[in-house]
Amino acid sequence: ATPISIVVGMGRGAQAGVLIRDAAALEELAKVDTLVVDKTGTLTEGKPSLVTVMPAPGFDEAQLLHVAGSIERGSEHPLASAIVKGAQQRGAVLTESSGFKSVTGQGVTGLVGGVQVALGNTKLLEGLGIDTAALVEKAEPLRREGQTVMFVAVDGKAAGLLGVADPVKASTPQAIQELRAEGLRIVMLTGDSRTTADAVARKLGIDEVHAEVRPEEKNDWVKRLQAEGRVVAMAGDGINDAPALAQAQVGIAMGTGTDIAMESAAVTLVKGDLRGIVRAQRLSRGTVRNIR
Ligand code: ADP
Ligand code: MG
Repeated sequence: ATPISIVVGMGRGAQAGVLIRDAAALEELAKVDTLVVDKTGTLTEGKPSLVTVMPAPGFDEAQLLHVAGSIERGSEHPLASAIVKGAQQRGAVLTESSGFKSVTGQGVTGLVGGVQVALGNTKLLEGLGIDTAALVEKAEPLRREGQTVMFVAVDGKAAGLLGVADPVKASTPQAIQELRAEGLRIVMLTGDSRTTADAVARKLGIDEVHAEVRPEEKNDWVKRLQAEGRVVAMAGDGINDAPALAQAQVGIAMGTGTDIAMESAAVTLVKGDLRGIVRAQRLSRGTVRNIR
């Protein structure tokens, strides 16, 4: 291998906003035939905002926002920030919660002003024995628009739902188109619901989608593809994505994401622009050709 062409390759990458960790990563990229992408923060901006507040009969919007915003102050999840901010913008005054518990990939629970609050997905509420049928029915049309819908329960009763929108990054549609044109197989993974995942995937022309994936399962999906003989690059931004980034032949982190994701990745896209993957792979192929 000529170190010069590798250094040149890595330098060109850096200029284009693609940081490549080492020569091995640059060479491995040339062989990648499958790209696994996380939805939130990778395909989307990762800056969700609260757009729907729908109380169930017997509850009102102010109550719903008060308990939801208060409980989410304890969580660091991007969805939690969206709810806290959205509640405050709508005039809710938030208080302390007690007995706060976070269930990874499901949601949060705790006490707010003497009432028991649960906020999260179907799995969370069903795990607590709460009937979600009425809420699920209301959620579906919102999910078909691509909203992420979360359910709120107060003292064991369905109290309403919250819908959050996280727009697709401006650069993503072109990136996916280019990656497909390069012949890459694209697989989307998300902890979000099937309907929301399908809505986002359809907009982008991605037809391989795995939804309601638990954080630790992302890693398993990468392994499964590798067992089929695929050479996998995994692109993600979150703490949850780190094991899958490390498992993939090439881990690709968003520079806009968490530090732990970047530490686990061989490639960092400085501005989180997925078009950088196409550039990096072209660079890699050019460099490998030069070496041979
Ligand atoms: P992703 O892979 O899309 O980043 P996660 O695995 O973190 O998603 O979460 C999966 C689902 O669990 C979310 O779509 C949401 O319904 C629920 N959830 C997780 N954390 C929270 C939270 N702090 N508040 C409400 N819901 C949450
Ligand atoms: Mg994410």
